[in-house]
Amino acid sequence: MKLSRLGEFGLIDRIRRKAAVGRGVRLGIGDDAAWVDHPRGSSLITADLLIEDIHFDLKWTSLKDLGYKSLAVNLSDIAAMGGIPAYVMLSLGIPAHFESEQIDELYRGINSLAKKHGVTVVGGDTNMAGSLLISVCVIGHPINRPIRRSGAHVGDDIYVTGTLGDAALGLSLLRQKRRRHSRALGQLLTRHHRPTPRIAAGALLARRELPTAMIDISDGLIQDLGHICAASRVGALIQQDKLPLSRAYRELAGKTAMRCALSGGEDYELLFCAAPRQRKRIEALSSQASVAITRIGTCAPVASGIGVVDASGAAVAVKARGHDHFKKQ
Ligand code: ADP
Ligand code: MG
Repeated sequence: MKLSRLGEFGLIDRIRRKAAVGRGVRLGIGDDAAWVDHPRGSSLITADLLIEDIHFDLKWTSLKDLGYKSLAVNLSDIAAMGGIPAYVMLSLGIPAHFESEQIDELYRGINSLAKKHGVTVVGGDTNMAGSLLISVCVIGHPINRPIRRSGAHVGDDIYVTGTLGDAALGLSLLRQKRRRHSRALGQLLTRHHRPTPRIAAGALLARRELPTAMIDISDGLIQDLGHICAASRVGALIQQDKLPLSRAYRELAGKTAMRCALSGGEDYELLFCAAPRQRKRIEALSSQASVAITRIGTCAPVASGIGVVDASGAAVAVKARGHDHFKKQ
């Protein structure tokens, strides 16, 4: 079957169904990170691959930012399980024309974020490649039980951290080659180049066992909400007017309106569900985690699917769900 028909997630599911499962796997393929046993406890493991001209364009991204982002997107998957990241394996495919100073620059970005979170690059692999390729694997420690995508119930509230759509709007404006480099555009581009993994928020949520399900938003709110809904067998109703937008987004969204916030991708915010009785505790946690936490909707019966309504309650059509590497939208 053509991969464009199967899609990225259909392919992963096919790989999952055929995978041999050995000892000690508490959670294998299908969540933000795997959860595996070892003799003295358990670990979380996640990997992400960043490929030149697919995930980044060196015309628009500095190597320092690229290094930072490569690690950030992996730390975000550990945050999405409610874990604390610890060790990094980082492998590079490097084009022949590169110079050592450029790789130094890449590592300056990697090391600055690693330092911030107390994680260590403990190994990796280095090879020649046709274009720059960065493969990162992070190992983390779970807090309590890792929070999966699969525990949401009908009636749970749906929350997100931070603001949505900034990175996607910044990238789309960059691609339109807007000349005027305003302060607001600069803020959106910072969100695109240097996403913030929400490790403190994820860890606090996990410590208090508040979320029933959690994921990080890498491919767009609706797409990633779809993963929670599929894994938990629930539907969802999102209130568009509740989506948290930054001032820069409001200033520059123009005709794009809500598209980037709903399905833009690369937010690396946490999306989670929790029982309505936890509202007060979640509100209180927001200030401790130094990030806004906003209630944006409710889990519905699975038959109602995923819906978005505007402030008047009218259904909003969502054209693009989010990013899929193989499927044409
Ligand atoms: P995320 O967006 O959180 O990084 P992905 O959508 O990339 O998650 O992956 C979903 C799940 O599929 C994860 O558990 C990941 O480890 C697994 N996965 C992705 N690609 C492969 C692969 N080629 N072989 C095995 N598992 C994979
Ligand atoms: Mg993820």
